[in-house]
Amino acid sequence: MEILVAKSSGFCFGVKRAINMAGKCASDEKKGDGIHTLGPIIHNPQVVKMLEESRVYAKNDLSEIDSGTVIIRSHGVTFEEYKEAREKGLNIVDATCPFVKTAQELVSRLTDEGYQVIVAGEKDHPEVKGLMSYGDNKVRVVSGIAELVDMPRVSKLGIVAQTTLRMEMLEDIVSFCLHKASELKVFNTICNATSTRQTESAALAKEVDVMVVVGGKNSANTRRLAEVCRAIRPETYHIETASELCPEWFDGKRRAGVTSGASTPEWLIEEVVLRMKEISSK
Ligand code: SF4
Repeated sequence: MEILVAKSSGFCFGVKRAINMAGKCASDEKKGDGIHTLGPIIHNPQVVKMLEESRVYAKNDLSEIDSGTVIIRSHGVTFEEYKEAREKGLNIVDATCPFVKTAQELVSRLTDEGYQVIVAGEKDHPEVKGLMSYGDNKVRVVSGIAELVDMPRVSKLGIVAQTTLRMEMLEDIVSFCLHKASELKVFNTICNATSTRQTESAALAKEVDVMVVVGGKNSANTRRLAEVCRAIRPETYHIETASELCPEWFDGKRRAGVTSGASTPEWLIEEVVLRMKEISSK
């Protein structure tokens, strides 16, 4: 069986940057006050475990961090959390991805300029919670046009997208919003890393008989990538590690594709490819 790996698999720029910043904190740590990330630094349990081994601990809430360093992960935090960390006197290492920072600034700017702001994305995602906090309490989070039907028409409407949103979803929301405002300002804040990965993975899914998507089950961008691939290649499997691969998935298959979410380290992908080679050689 031929195994093709998507060129864009592995960490994206923002995740790579955050992991490097966490690694630098761990190697610079002298006082022993503790290094913490606010939530897991990325949605990948294997990487979180490795960081713990370097004494970088994930905490879910600022109330669990009284001193030392707090690393803000790539998808950012809320305005209030940032303020609280500063008031607590913590050493803040801000690893918010610059693309997410831009989206936060846009929500803030649109709000200041009097636009009703729509954040296109998943309301429970930490990045979206962060984005919302930079606007006022009128910011609406929308994951599909059904949620916009009841929205009254306004004069000025501004749209900002979760960086990992699917382009088709943003297109749907934008075209629906044309009927909802006299002035519509749209910022395409979808990150290229996500769209490139999705486009490349979709192209790969067309060429193969079976697709394997590697990444945390709780990673929104990996789940979305699996959806994109499954829409083209129904035999798409989302796994976290090589141990989940089932030999039956590859029975009679000539070509298999492998892709990964933005938070999947290279070594995990290599392990998956190695295991697939073993399976196909039996
Ligand atoms: S997916 Fe894009 S926006 Fe998100 S962390 Fe990676 S580079 Fe940054």
